[in-house]
Amino acid sequence: MRELGERAVAGVGRHIEWRAVTLLAICLTGSIPLFVVSGFQRSVGAHADARLAALGASIWGCMAGYVAIRRRLGPRDGAVIIGAASTIMIIEGLCQEELTIRWLCAAALVVVPVAAAMLLRSWAVVVTTAVAVTGVVAISLTLPTPPLLRVYSALTMAVMVLAPITVVTILVRRMQAARDLARTLAVTDPLTGLSNRRGIEARAGSILAAAAAAGERVTVMVLDLDHFKTVNDTHGHAVGDRVLTEVAGAMTRGARADDLLVRLGGEELGWVAHFPGPDEVARAAERLLTAVRDLSVPDLPPVTVSIGVVTSEPPPGHSPVDAVLSLLSAADRALYEAKRAGRDRIAYAADRPRELNPTS
Ligand code: GH3
Ligand code: MG
Ligand code: MG
Repeated sequence: MRELGERAVAGVGRHIEWRAVTLLAICLTGSIPLFVVSGFQRSVGAHADARLAALGASIWGCMAGYVAIRRRLGPRDGAVIIGAASTIMIIEGLCQEELTIRWLCAAALVVVPVAAAMLLRSWAVVVTTAVAVTGVVAISLTLPTPPLLRVYSALTMAVMVLAPITVVTILVRRMQAARDLARTLAVTDPLTGLSNRRGIEARAGSILAAAAAAGERVTVMVLDLDHFKTVNDTHGHAVGDRVLTEVAGAMTRGARADDLLVRLGGEELGWVAHFPGPDEVARAAERLLTAVRDLSVPDLPPVTVSIGVVTSEPPPGHSPVDAVLSLLSAADRALYEAKRAGRDRIAYAADRPRELNPTS
């Protein structure tokens, strides 16, 4: 039952976007009362006011029709609708004789920046807010009330425009920050700070594109700590964790900012990058091997790693993620060779760029 409900909501969402529904409601709220007011004004002989109200009502009505037809709104639609709505409200608020209508127009301007925050970029929200504040101040200052009351009303209305948009802006910023943090955490390994496997999905496309743009092949290195179980058994799991973090740190220091460093699981780490040629690949792998071997952290035992390396064109017909996963498997097979050959060394996959393994 619940599933059915969720599917129905998703279905409606596909047809008409929530922002469009909100704007449609705002347009109808602008249009229908103005038509009623226009009819009333005509009946009491206030023809100029009636024409003005009918004009405003018609423009609101057209916008409602436009939103209903479009169903999904981009920033340009939003800018046109919000601009037109503000203009109508300011004109009606300044020109209508009827005091209630003028007040209502000023009050309606309060929601304009909030509607803008849903649809427009931040600079456009600032412009919209400035227009709304100017509008409410102008309407308030032309009200047929004593001067002090006009000034008081202008200040109060300006605050009423600024307060909701300030709250909305702060909430939107916090929401964006929370969403960005959640996204980062979802792809980050909490112990090492490297990417987790989900990070491969997030980054594979951009890494392959960067390699292609540089005209270079993709290199994948898989690194595994040697005899790590003994480190844990001898020094404890907490020390093992710190060793793992230090090795990840050594990797990070040796890599470029846009390389993908990933904890593949346990004490196995991956480095996805691109280099100009086989010499640079070999040098990077050797630097990594030496950096771990030379790690000297107080209270931590020395460790070594074995590294499997593959450099290749991404296999054709694969998605970027599958391509990277297949290169990781090839590097993992090479890693097995490095382990078999005695550990603390580099092994290149069969399709390695050239015979280069100075430590073996
Ligand atoms: P080899 O040289 O063949 O890789 O030997 P090894 O001992 O490193 O490999 P093995 O697969 O036998 O053991 C891996 C160990 O890594 C066992 C496990 O407890 C440890 N390990 C995996 N993840 C973590 C972790 O997050 N923290 C700590 N401290 N240890 C971990
Ligand atoms: Mg190991
Ligand atoms: Mg392992």
